[in-house]
Amino acid sequence: MSTITIKRIGFIGLGTMGRHMAANLQKAGFELVVYDVAAPAVELAAQNGATAARSVKEVGQLSDAVVLMLPNTPDVQSVVYGDGSLLANPPAARLIIDMSTIAPVAVRQISADLSQQGIAFLDAPVSGGPVGAQNASLTIMAGGEKEAFERALPVFRGMGTTITHVGASGAGQTLKLCNQLICGVNIQAICEALALGRASGVDLSVMREVLLGGSAASWMLDKLGPAMINGDTAAGFRIDLMLKDLKLVQEMAFELAVPLPATSLVTTQYLDARVHGEGSNGNQALFTVYDRMSNQTPS
Ligand code: NAD
Repeated sequence: MSTITIKRIGFIGLGTMGRHMAANLQKAGFELVVYDVAAPAVELAAQNGATAARSVKEVGQLSDAVVLMLPNTPDVQSVVYGDGSLLANPPAARLIIDMSTIAPVAVRQISADLSQQGIAFLDAPVSGGPVGAQNASLTIMAGGEKEAFERALPVFRGMGTTITHVGASGAGQTLKLCNQLICGVNIQAICEALALGRASGVDLSVMREVLLGGSAASWMLDKLGPAMINGDTAAGFRIDLMLKDLKLVQEMAFELAVPLPATSLVTTQYLDARVHGEGSNGNQALFTVYDRMSNQTPS
């Protein structure tokens, strides 16, 4: 176990979530070394005082611990393995924290491979969206060695408020995929209720307000409801990213032989949204599927 105090954090992936999470780590007093394949994201962070690395390798060399916030499993694998990767150039405290949403089975393999080199790997996906990332109020569900989790706690506290060690390697991703299952099915239910309400002529904003006071209240209805009602499709959390997560959920369900009928249905609805060009829009754009199904347009 490394006893190095974590002061310099390498952050790879400065997108919708990562740029805010990295900025909050800086506010929490950490020095920041950043890298992203998109040069403008790195330049922006550098303007705000971060050290701009030119490669993954440089991030590893200049940091005590590294945080990843990347789109999908192959992106995480590409920065971990191979020449010029973190496996070849581990950070000083030999700790890598992956906060992306990726496949639990891949996490367990990465963790086992890194462990052979004395590098700890935590899967610590998040819930709370860009607003949670901005406010440092994310829910963080971490899997991996307890000792590594405890070393990472000050880093987590810079980005989130509900921080839990949920089990062994892969357990964080497992919980996150269950979270995504609930979110996806919930968005579908809200779409159906709004479509029904609209067809019957009720005021959808009033309907949302009232339902938020009762047992149908949910984060999705609260945060995404207004955009659904107003036909605002700007991301947020992209349809494409939710499809990536639903695919991971389905793969896990196949592996464990657990039937998920509602998830299967909502996956089809999400695919329909993507086929109709909504992939880069926010999750609330699932409502456009209902616009087509019911031949209606947003009011
Ligand atoms: P994003 O696509 O906005 O950001 C990802 C960033 O990673 C981009 O800036 C991209 O250029 C960079 N990147 C991709 N491959 C790279 C590589 N090989 N090396 C360096 N940089 C690379 O995605 P996001 O919305 O910030 O989401 C990131 C992760 O967090 C995803 O796994 C997503 O499912 C998860 N997540 C997103 C949200 C949300 O609301 N957006 C919420 C919770 C969790």
